[in-house]
Amino acid sequence: MSLFQKQAWATHGVCTAQDPDTLFATGAAQRQVRQMCLSCPVRMDCLIEALESKIAFGVWGGLTERERRSLLRAMPEDTDWREWFAFPNQEVAFDIRAGRIPTREELYKLTVLMAEARKCSASAATKCEENSLERVGASNL
Ligand code: SF4
Repeated sequence: MSLFQKQAWATHGVCTAQDPDTLFATGAAQRQVRQMCLSCPVRMDCLIEALESKIAFGVWGGLTERERRSLLRAMPEDTDWREWFAFPNQEVAFDIRAGRIPTREELYKLTVLMAEARKCSASAATKCEENSLERVGASNL
């Protein structure tokens, strides 16, 4: 029994009626899986589980492995993903929750911003954040 099959929410996933291999599509076929995920009532539970468990392959919660890797790179090891998505102070988190998948550029900018934020002291955090935004040209983030 897989990790996902042990989760109660997983029984409500749209993919339960699919061949499990469907989720491990590659290339352009991942877009079809993503569409299925975006209509899934347990999408956020699925995505949070995939991030917490660092699932290396497949499309989970609408994000490909590459997109999840970017999020994992951007955020500290001990990130509470459920909290991050529930109270997003980043546009990327808000967008994902709303069903909009961030671009590679947006994920990269998030990585830069979070790395900068970790370096900054609490008192200088605002100034540091402004500097990072300027550096990555992310004034619209
Ligand atoms: S979000 Fe996608 S992978 Fe996750 S349970 Fe729903 S359909 Fe399946």
